[in-house]
Amino acid sequence: MKTLIWFRDDLRTQDHEALQTAVTRGSEGTAAVFIATPDTWITHGVGTPRISFTLATLKSLQRDLAELGIPLIFESASTYSNVPRILEALVRTHHIDEVHAGLEYGVDEVARDRAVAKALKQLNSTLVLSDTQTILPVYEIKNKSGSPYKVFTPFRRAWEEKFMNTRQDPTNEPCKATPLAVQTSDIPDAFVGYETWTSTVPWQAGQEAGLSRLEDFIQSERADRYGTNRDRPDIDGTSSLSPWLAVGSISPGRCLEALTSKHGPDITSWPEGARCWQSELVWREFYRYVMASFPDVSRNRPMQEWTSDIPWRNSSEDLEAWEEGRTGIDIVDAGMIQLKKTGWMHNRVRMIVAMFLCKNLLLDWRLGEAHFRRSLVDYDFASNNGGWQWAASTGTDAAPYFRIFNPVTQGERFDPDGTYRSRWLEERAPGSLAPIVDLKSTRVRAIETFKATQAEWQGRNTART
Ligand SMILES: Cc1cc2nc3c(=O)[nH]c(=O)nc-3n(C[C@H](O)[C@H](O)[C@H](O)COP(=O)(O)OP(=O)(O)OC[C@H]3O[C@@H](n4cnc5c(N)ncnc54)[C@H](O)[C@@H]3O)c2cc1C
Repeated sequence: MKTLIWFRDDLRTQDHEALQTAVTRGSEGTAAVFIATPDTWITHGVGTPRISFTLATLKSLQRDLAELGIPLIFESASTYSNVPRILEALVRTHHIDEVHAGLEYGVDEVARDRAVAKALKQLNSTLVLSDTQTILPVYEIKNKSGSPYKVFTPFRRAWEEKFMNTRQDPTNEPCKATPLAVQTSDIPDAFVGYETWTSTVPWQAGQEAGLSRLEDFIQSERADRYGTNRDRPDIDGTSSLSPWLAVGSISPGRCLEALTSKHGPDITSWPEGARCWQSELVWREFYRYVMASFPDVSRNRPMQEWTSDIPWRNSSEDLEAWEEGRTGIDIVDAGMIQLKKTGWMHNRVRMIVAMFLCKNLLLDWRLGEAHFRRSLVDYDFASNNGGWQWAASTGTDAAPYFRIFNPVTQGERFDPDGTYRSRWLEERAPGSLAPIVDLKSTRVRAIETFKATQAEWQGRNTART
């Protein structure tokens, strides 16, 4: 049998079920392919930082695969609609029996994979999908009535129960493959429509760099103190592994295994820091689960239907001030400058800047979501959408609309000495720029707007029933 492994957001060789199976079954040869779709990425609004990191990761993956005897072919299809044609050509030319790939959850990705499966079937070849992005096959988790969970805590409980009952250790690299004689090509440095990206933080792409960062984090005090320090942007208290997890150059299963090796197999007995970090990995799974269970999420729709009626303000000046870090609220501006310079922002600050945009500025959360999509090196649809819908009070587990962060007190609490703010505001003295909004009155405006919208929606829907 000849097999092809089609890489997407799972650019690694370790703990990769689809790769393992492709190699095991490919007794007559295995090759790998990555199909770039830059025009679809532009339509989806994915920005240069994430694309640059993907390309750099691919170069490293090509080397890792070569050591296993697997040639990586780089193809460009421009859009998803051309992907079936590219795969058909490869299958035909190299007489491939099975194409293996990791599951993806977005509506466009699901439609693309259906079209590929149909096209391959006509050639007597099969598309085989397996989980490569999550620790567990999350879509199998259901509540007692057989529906998907909409709230994190019961999902987490069900996830942990399933994990304890069905856990499997992550797999290592597959053994050497029988190589398929194919022509490989160089991975480009950039695409048309994407400029080159420079960050003040050197994000070193690839599996090896990700695994060594994981090891450093787990063995360090940062992991032990994660429970207390993770909300402090002034402290290097989190793992910063999100870019590697987003492109899949390390697996979440490998992250969990690193904790298991240190603390033992019973996750319920782990110390607070480890337990807390594990919970963040489950949040990551939860947002993928939400995406897989509620396809409207990838159609730009809020999870809470009534919130589609919120009359968001329209102010390009306010949006621009927020994007550029010129709102006069120091913690917000520091976060936005960190994002611009590095492609990354601390989670607590992401929450603060997002809530400020949706509540104090009363601007549509989708504008913020799109800006993050353009700017983040760790951009990941599920986590980004989940984070934004949380902040906007439109999502599954959203912050109640009346509980609005005061960004100034958040800054004082989580950056008590102002270290984070000074670091990113640089030449601007803290407090030197007048705020573009009054925090008190805009808070009241947001609460009243949400309250009135909800009442009106409920009235309309009660009248209808
Ligand atoms: C508005 C908003 C937008 C976000 N957009 C993204 C995004 O595009 N990509 C992304 O990976 N994360 C996103 N997050 C989640 C979170 O901010 C980042 O995952 C985290 O800051 C990454 O830093 P870290 O690797 O040091 O995380 P750690 O604290 O070390 O956590 C370990 C890993 O767990 C996962 N994780 C942690 N927190 C969350 C969370 N709240 N939701 C989902 N997964 C989580 C990440 O994969 C992270 O790398 C967003 C959060 C908000 C509030």
